[in-house]
Amino acid sequence: MPANTDAEATDSAAGAEATDAPADPDTDTADAPTDSAAGPETAAGSTARETSAAAVAADGRRDVVIVGGGVAGLTAGVFTARAGFDTLVVNDGESILRRNAHLENFPGFPAGVNARLFADMLEAQATRNGCDLLARRVTALRKTDDGFVVGTEGDGADGEPTTVAADRVVAASWSDADYLDGLDVEIRDAGSKRYLGSDDLGRTSVEGLYVAGRLAERYHQAVVAAGHGAQTALTLIHDSDAPFYNDWVTPEGYFTDRGREVPPGCEEIDERERRARERESMAAMGEYFSEPHPDRQRTHPSLVDDDVGRLPEE
Ligand SMILES: Cc1cc2nc3c(=O)[nH]c(=O)nc-3n(C[C@H](O)[C@H](O)[C@H](O)COP(=O)(O)OP(=O)(O)OC[C@H]3O[C@@H](n4cnc5c(N)ncnc54)[C@H](O)[C@@H]3O)c2cc1C
Repeated sequence: MPANTDAEATDSAAGAEATDAPADPDTDTADAPTDSAAGPETAAGSTARETSAAAVAADGRRDVVIVGGGVAGLTAGVFTARAGFDTLVVNDGESILRRNAHLENFPGFPAGVNARLFADMLEAQATRNGCDLLARRVTALRKTDDGFVVGTEGDGADGEPTTVAADRVVAASWSDADYLDGLDVEIRDAGSKRYLGSDDLGRTSVEGLYVAGRLAERYHQAVVAAGHGAQTALTLIHDSDAPFYNDWVTPEGYFTDRGREVPPGCEEIDERERRARERESMAAMGEYFSEPHPDRQRTHPSLVDDDVGRLPEE
């Protein structure tokens, strides 16, 4: 992997400490699911911040457009936005993870977590770190001399189809690859599924076009999709001219007390700031986990009849 900095960490990279595990959530599975149109409002200001097609048009060109706001796409967005790339996530529909009944193998949740809550928290993390979200279906992707033009269909509430120009694009749109058909990329058809070819780090054969998650034929597990989203984003960052070492938050003096500059992408924080961030995270997590998630359980949309109401709403 190319490195755009001379900085070398002599210490083990294992310096990223585990934070306190959240308290075990109430796992009472007898709770009847309740209907709610609204996502949970939390102390973290955590309902996703969506933008409109008009705002996207006014904002102009983006550094990065990510197609698909599921596990891989939102994780990729956390990394690109934190690295200072103006990032737009265009998402239509919802992550397949929202069908899960209880997510028990994602690291950091000893008693598991409601997958819809997890998806909400991931959206909030992406927007908190600077991503904009546009709720549209991407239907076309065109290569230009200096990047890409991403085309979306319109929707009932927000008018006409729209386009947005981008320097780089990450395809994280499991399970849709149709908008890539006009490009010279390798697509593997496997029955009803289509997978986009890439190298080990998420680069496709088209310069500036990357792929992340299940669409890249990675294992069908959330942690793999998240990890691949992060890896693809880091590849994109390293491929650019942006100076970047690692996305690390370190204690005050970690680099500077050893006579080093804080490497690009890293941050040193003092004890006061660390405590403030810890308190904020405790308050946010306490609120996230204070009540069962209001969204209904889903099941496979191909099922024609489900007498406990787990099919998608019309
Ligand atoms: C019933 C079920 C249970 C599961 N349980 C577990 C589990 O317990 N543990 C585990 O690790 N994994 C589980 N998984 C798997 C996990 O959900 C997936 O591996 C993971 O979500 C894949 O991430 P992704 O980002 O590639 O795709 P997704 O999370 O599905 O995200 C893709 C996003 O792209 C959007 N999109 C698609 N096409 C377009 C387009 N043209 N324009 C804009 N947006 C588009 C989709 O609507 C979606 O929001 C489960 C899956 C299912 C179906």
